[in-house]
Amino acid sequence: MTDTADVSRGCRGYEENHVQNWCGNISFGSKQKFVPSTVEELQQVVRDAAPPLRVIGRGHSFSPVAECAGGTLVSLARLNLVLDFQPPSDGSVGSITVQGGTTYSEIAKYLAVGRRGALRNLPSCPQFTVAGAIATGTHGSGVHIPNLAADVSMLEFVRADGTLVRYSRETDAATLEGCRVHLGCLGVVSELRLDVVPFFEVDARTYADVPLEAAVRALPELWTRCDSLSVWTSGFGRGGAEVGDSDLLKLADPFPRLEPLGAAAPLEAALLGESGYLLERPMGRYCSDVDAPTTYSPTRREPWHSALSLTLDDQAEETSMAVVDLQAEFFVPLERATEALRAVWAASAGWAFGSPPTSAERVKGLVKGDKAWLSPAPVDSLGIHVSFNADLAVRDEVMAAVPALEAALAPFGARFHWGKLSCLRAARVAELYGEGLEQFRSLCDDHDREGKFRNDHVSELLWRRAAPEC
Ligand SMILES: Cc1cc2nc3c(=O)[nH]c(=O)nc-3n(C[C@H](O)[C@H](O)[C@H](O)COP(=O)(O)OP(=O)(O)OC[C@H]3O[C@@H](n4cnc5c(N)ncnc54)[C@H](O)[C@@H]3O)c2cc1C
Repeated sequence: MTDTADVSRGCRGYEENHVQNWCGNISFGSKQKFVPSTVEELQQVVRDAAPPLRVIGRGHSFSPVAECAGGTLVSLARLNLVLDFQPPSDGSVGSITVQGGTTYSEIAKYLAVGRRGALRNLPSCPQFTVAGAIATGTHGSGVHIPNLAADVSMLEFVRADGTLVRYSRETDAATLEGCRVHLGCLGVVSELRLDVVPFFEVDARTYADVPLEAAVRALPELWTRCDSLSVWTSGFGRGGAEVGDSDLLKLADPFPRLEPLGAAAPLEAALLGESGYLLERPMGRYCSDVDAPTTYSPTRREPWHSALSLTLDDQAEETSMAVVDLQAEFFVPLERATEALRAVWAASAGWAFGSPPTSAERVKGLVKGDKAWLSPAPVDSLGIHVSFNADLAVRDEVMAAVPALEAALAPFGARFHWGKLSCLRAARVAELYGEGLEQFRSLCDDHDREGKFRNDHVSELLWRRAAPEC
């Protein structure tokens, strides 16, 4: 049995990770838990495990992807070493090879030493493990940058019989590209390698009270002119309020820019209207310890690892948050983005269960399309993120709102985030993913004949086994 107290990395909530997810809406229900210290031990655990076997990364998924009722939960918290580092040089990317339990913040800390290098992008919380983040197609923001999985150049899995298999860009490019969004179904990721680019800084500009209509109209032009764009709005979720001001609009670019900003400055001026202004006062961190809230400056130049995520790098292992929300996120092709946004606003008119006091909705994460078989963003996409109040008192309303959103977004071919709330059923998943799903299942069969790595959730979604309705 596990000794979870030992694996705490100095952050609150790590032990609870082994019982329920970070938000608390999913219990894992495992009969056994293991925290192996070596790859050999991990192989033995996998070989002997009672199914279903699921790995827990940092437990930040809102969907039951890591649930394993009656089975085995494995944490790789002790397998978090940097195994190799090759610095970028002469215009070529470098690489960092890590064990399967390593988090983005651990990698960022390593690369920050002496400005060794940088990752191209980060998720909003770098506390996620790389293996867990890529499993669900997690993304940062940037129309020129695909989701985080695209920067993985080698993946090693422990298969159901305990043997190891590796796919690398050099020798198995097509399989690697296909299987990076792995949903934990291909086995346990024991090692992986990521691209490293030269260390860079980011110029972030954040505007408050930008008129929402102006922001939406300008989106197509804005996203070609900056590398990272996020808009937070409080257009709904406040007791039926009219679509109002966008609360925040954040543009961020690597410094120095590779290309000049062109006409972006006048465009920004036009965007601000009468109400908008450049936000220079400190703001509360999104992920912040309730007992010791921290602030940051939303408009300034910072090292990549601080600017691209919403947590401070010196608190990168903290996992608590002042307001726990429940999230859903949908990806729509960029050319349908403004129509899709309006459909979301129409579907959500009158909702009173947004995520107070944070904004209820966020136009987040432009993602460049990629070719993973289960990629939520197969073409250049806009991520429309919805934060719901996680209070149990409104859970029924929230769960009823998710299918309503999905129906509103279906005409745009919206795909959903594998790690967030969704009520889509297997038939729709098969329609959306087609041949990619077939290829994924076939590789799963190669790795795992008996379906040891499949819990009810993935069985229902990917293998069409009946599960209760949302
Ligand atoms: C506050 C918050 C902010 C978020 N921000 C973003 C964001 O900016 N962008 C975005 O796209 N998403 C975001 N998400 C969603 C989040 O990125 C995903 O849910 C991500 O998968 C979480 O990583 P994790 O390490 O917690 O993985 P977990 O949730 O623990 O696991 C995810 C999946 O990976 C599997 N897994 C984990 N490790 C391994 C391994 N070593 N081998 C095999 N399988 C494994 C698990 O079994 C599970 O199926 C956010 C979530 C929260 C709570």
